Amino acid sequence: MNQPIVTIVVPCYNEEEVLAETMSQLTQFLEENIQSRLIANTSSILFVDDGSKDKTWDMIFKYTINHPLIKGIKLSRNVGHQNALLAGLFTAKETSDCVISIDADLQDDISVMKEFILKFVEGYEVVYGVRNKRESDTFFKRNTAVGFYKVMKKMGVDLVHNHADYRLMSKRAIEELEHFQEVNMFLRGIVPLIGFKSTSITYDRKERLAGETKYPLKKMISFALDGITSFSVTPIRLVLFLGTTSFIISLLFGIYFLSLKFFGNTELGWTSLITSIWLIGGLQLIAIGLVGEYIGKIYKETKKRPKYIVDIDMFNLPTPRQLLIDKGIGNELQTLRLTKLSKN
Ligand code: UDP
Ligand code: MG
Repeated sequence: MNQPIVTIVVPCYNEEEVLAETMSQLTQFLEENIQSRLIANTSSILFVDDGSKDKTWDMIFKYTINHPLIKGIKLSRNVGHQNALLAGLFTAKETSDCVISIDADLQDDISVMKEFILKFVEGYEVVYGVRNKRESDTFFKRNTAVGFYKVMKKMGVDLVHNHADYRLMSKRAIEELEHFQEVNMFLRGIVPLIGFKSTSITYDRKERLAGETKYPLKKMISFALDGITSFSVTPIRLVLFLGTTSFIISLLFGIYFLSLKFFGNTELGWTSLITSIWLIGGLQLIAIGLVGEYIGKIYKETKKRPKYIVDIDMFNLPTPRQLLIDKGIGNELQTLRLTKLSKN
């Protein structure tokens, strides 16, 4: 194979603090590997602005103008990490042989990308980055993450252990990914379903360069819940099992209390009564909530709403910098235009 065209997709949500550093490290990586002829010189970095409220898009826009290797798209609003990633993958695949996805905070070791690419050249279609330790994560994050993988496994969701969304996918794999029409895309679960020849590469995960995690507890719980309910019906089965068990137990109790009544020593039993009412009531509410979660999923799927909407596309333009220069837009005008465009 000739040198592959590689696109690095970076979803960004309020990442103004890390973006400059991320951009410089990634461009350096690309430049080195273009020079050593590992990858084609049309390779690029695609920043996806996921509806950030800070200066993220302004920065991305300026980079795309000033650096030929950098491109960007702006989504119309915040759609979450997974959908932003999809937007990036689907946009990038048109002009790439393979796409690498990485978080903006560069917690994942970027030097590993070289090994990803070598594996791709060897013929692998999907290469998973796997973290071998999580010492840099907080105690809380580490343990919740370990718990997450355990629960997912119990629920029958086949995940690559300790793999987040740092991976390489070939153009072909992404094209197949497009055929998965579900609105609730849980990429870590779906990519293994695509199949093809795949492998994983282990690396150490570092600390966030700067800024705070964009996954606070609330988002983490909803991410885990989405992951489980979009892949597995085990929770509903569990509810069925719980319901059946409590039904059988209550039958047995009924028989017991009836027999007490017949033998004349009825218990006053207010406590047991009220406890069981609360218990059953609670169980029922949980069950309804859970079933509701699945129905909600079905509801969303039937509407087939788009997963993301691209507002400004600086990827498919013929070198935007050239475009502006061709139009004879001077520096001042250019700055004006940038701020105006990015405000829209
Ligand atoms: N992210 C995003 N949209 C969101 C939340 C996060 O695009 O709604 C991006 C974020 O900018 C980062 C990546 O997803 O590039 C992972 O987020 P973060 O590093 O905060 O997650 P953590 O590593 O703490 O799990
Ligand atoms: Mg991170």
